[in-house]
Amino acid sequence: MSQAHGTCILVGAGPGNPDLLTVQAIRAIQSATVLLPDDLVSPDILALASPTACITPVGKRCGRASTPQEVIEHMIISAVRAGETVVRLKGGDPCVFGRGGEELDRLRAAGIAVSVVHGITAGVAAAGALGTPLTHRHHAHGVVFVTGHATSASTGVDWQALGQVAHQSKLTLVIYMGVQAASHIQSQLQRGMPADTPAAIVENASLPQQRHAVCTLATLSATLQQHKLHSPCIIVVGHVLQGLQGLQALSPITPP
Ligand code: SAH
Repeated sequence: MSQAHGTCILVGAGPGNPDLLTVQAIRAIQSATVLLPDDLVSPDILALASPTACITPVGKRCGRASTPQEVIEHMIISAVRAGETVVRLKGGDPCVFGRGGEELDRLRAAGIAVSVVHGITAGVAAAGALGTPLTHRHHAHGVVFVTGHATSASTGVDWQALGQVAHQSKLTLVIYMGVQAASHIQSQLQRGMPADTPAAIVENASLPQQRHAVCTLATLSATLQQHKLHSPCIIVVGHVLQGLQGLQALSPITPP
C-alpha cells in the first residue's frame, strides 16, 4: 500500500527580529500545517503561521527540560508520513550549530526529503549590531565561527592554538555559546594572542532587548559578569573591532 507523504522544510528563523526573516522563510512558515520551533524563535515569528497550524515548541536550552533529539526527529518523520507540511524552525541559520546538520542527516537517512531555507546567523547579526564588518580588508583575512559549548581542558576547541592562528593570520573570531566557558576561553586565547586584542559581546542581537559591551580579551570574562550578560550572546574577538574601543560602556542599541 502506498503511503501518503508530506514534506519537511528546515527553516532558519534568523536572530530573532521578524524583519530579518527571508521571504522564503515567511512563505515556508505560512505553508506549515505542523510547526516545530526551537525556543530561541520569537513569538512574533510564530504569529506568522496559519491559525490552523499545529505548533509544538521543541526547544533546547542549556540545563532546561527540552524535547530529546530523537523525539523531535520521530515527530517530524511521523508527521511527514501522515502527509503534513512540517516546518522545523530553528534560530539563525538552521545549518550553523544548533544540531541542524544532525537533524538533516537523520531525516535523510529515514528517507525523508528535507529542503533547507537558510537564515541570517546570529554571528552576522551581532556584527551588524556593532556596525563591524567581520572581514574588513584592513584588519582581517577571514572569520571563524566557533562554538564555546562543551569546552574543557581535554575536549573541544584548542583555544590557545586558535588564538595563535587567528592572531597570525588575522582572523576574526565569532564565538557562539561562549558565555558559560568565557573565563576558560579568555585565558586560553590569551596564550595565543595579545591580551589587548579588542573584543565585544552582543546579547539578544536584533531584538528590542539587545545589549552589547566592548572590551578587550583581557577583560572579556569580567565584562560579562559586570554587565550580567546572559545567553544568547555572541562574543567577537579581533582587530575589526578596534574602531569601537572608545565605547567601553555597555550600550543598548535600538535595532533599525
Ligand atoms: N543556528 C543558530 C545558532 C544556534 S546555537 C544561528 O545560526 O544563529 C545558539 C547560540 O547562538 C546561542 O547560545 C548564542 O551564542 C547564539 N545566538 C542565537 N541567537 C542569538 C541572538 N539573537 N543574539 C546573540 N546570540 C545569539
